[in-house]
Amino acid sequence: MLYSKLAELYENLGNTTKRLEKIEILSKFLEYLSEKDKDILYLLNGEIYPTYDERKIGISNQLVIKAISKASGNSPDKVVQEWKKIGDLGKVAEKLINTKKQSTLFLKSHLTTDKVIENLRKLPELEGEGTIEKKLILITELLISASPIEALYIVRTLLGDLRIGIQESTIRESLAKAFFNSDKESSKIIQEAIDHSNDLAKVFLISKKGKISEFDKIGLEVGKPIKAMLAQKVKNIEEGFKAVGKPCAIEYKYDGFRLIIHKKDSKIKLFTRKLENVTKQFPEAVEYIQKYVRGESFILDSEAIGYNKKTKEYTPFQAISQRIRRKYNIEKIREELPIEINVFDILYYNGKSLIKEPFEKRTQLIRKIIKETPYKIVSSKQIITDDLNKAEEFYKKALKDNQEGIMMKNLSTAYQPGNRVGHMLKVKPSEKDLDLVITGAEYGTGKRSGWLSSFILSCMGKEEQEFLEIGRVGTGIKEKDEQEGVSFNELNDLLKPLIIKEQGKDVKIKPKIIVAVTYQEIQESPNYSSGWALRFPRITSLRPDKHLSEIASLQEIEKEVKGQKSN
Ligand code: AMP
Repeated sequence: MLYSKLAELYENLGNTTKRLEKIEILSKFLEYLSEKDKDILYLLNGEIYPTYDERKIGISNQLVIKAISKASGNSPDKVVQEWKKIGDLGKVAEKLINTKKQSTLFLKSHLTTDKVIENLRKLPELEGEGTIEKKLILITELLISASPIEALYIVRTLLGDLRIGIQESTIRESLAKAFFNSDKESSKIIQEAIDHSNDLAKVFLISKKGKISEFDKIGLEVGKPIKAMLAQKVKNIEEGFKAVGKPCAIEYKYDGFRLIIHKKDSKIKLFTRKLENVTKQFPEAVEYIQKYVRGESFILDSEAIGYNKKTKEYTPFQAISQRIRRKYNIEKIREELPIEINVFDILYYNGKSLIKEPFEKRTQLIRKIIKETPYKIVSSKQIITDDLNKAEEFYKKALKDNQEGIMMKNLSTAYQPGNRVGHMLKVKPSEKDLDLVITGAEYGTGKRSGWLSSFILSCMGKEEQEFLEIGRVGTGIKEKDEQEGVSFNELNDLLKPLIIKEQGKDVKIKPKIIVAVTYQEIQESPNYSSGWALRFPRITSLRPDKHLSEIASLQEIEKEVKGQKSN
């Protein structure tokens, strides 16, 4: 397909804010999309491969600036100047390439989607010497062949910010409309297929057949990450019992990070809940699973927690958070910050998917196949009870053991990948902590000049990908890298490449970096777009394992405020 057709679609989608209109436009496009153009589904979602694939575009603003400069014949300074004025490198590319094309009278583009995908896919493959130069050539080649509007979307694709207001759910609804007349059941089945496969092109191909029964072919595949099932929150145990029924399973809610374990053909792979492969980071986990879990093939859901190697006391998540991203000196850090794996669910065992099986059966199986080995790998601490007193006691014990609280689980329900379900509930003390995303910052002065030193926090709005500001934070961050927790250096390294606009000392940041924040209170505030402000916020840790869709939503904030009032 000509890339101009896709650019036209992007324009049409970006020109309306109405979700139903977007679905109408996209469903028409999908209806006529041929099978051989299936990879366009990845582009629509801002990707080049299925979501589970680790090869991402990962291009910096700086490289894009160079490419625009080369392709348009302007100096990099001119590009930066325009960027400061317009605030969107895509628009800068459109403007500067337009000027060039008009002067060369070369307005027609023959760029195809295949060529764009081909060049984009080469980017993550490059390694070693001359990588930057080679990447620059690949990007410049695309921009030179592009019309202005195509250049706009190529740049936005490179930077992972299409700005057309399309989410996975819009794609799902458009598939349902295009091939199943928007039938409600079909939309649910398509979502299930997306959650199981994390491959939109695959789901498109099956949808195109127009037969619901075809979706049976999408099963779990060991080795390919699937989205984790997420929990809802309740205020206390009584409320939990009401929601999940009696008796129910109650487990420790471990204060660690989620680790989803796959074993197939004697090979182990470990994924975070963001579907990132972290096998290399945790060689000891691989050893424990090989040694202490019986089975040819399986998918286990678990929480890894840290402990102090001397005292054997369990430590909070922030003490081990650095292990998730650390890719060097693994042997040393594994000695310093050891982990224990607590397995709490099983989705697949020896060739058979278990996700439709009741939780009771799944949890029993875990206890059969794991050789309990404390400080290495164990099944999660659990009681099955209908007794409030026993539950309260267990909750107290969990807190005493330095864990976050408890999870209450219905015994007869299925595992639902990717869903925040009402049959798995968390109960924890109202510690007043939230996961939020950084969407802006301010450069510091004096000792901190040149450093981003105060950060704007945002929660999720009513729609996915709408971010609403809820406060500004500069505390909790360490001056030195060696201190435990997040350091200014670390945050600056992560945030500077994500700057999308600068105005004086203020910068806007692409929402990507998630932090756990504690606070004292939430107050009404006209200063932030959410209408609320956190009082005395403090960053406690980075959450590189969490997905953007998991940050606190406005709805949750408003619920917290109600809770504040009633306390
Ligand atoms: P939250 O991160 O506050 O939304 O809480 C949900 C998370 O708790 C899950 O994503 C898991 O990573 C973690 N967790 C800890 N212990 C358990 C458990 N026993 N069962 C399920 N999830 C658990």
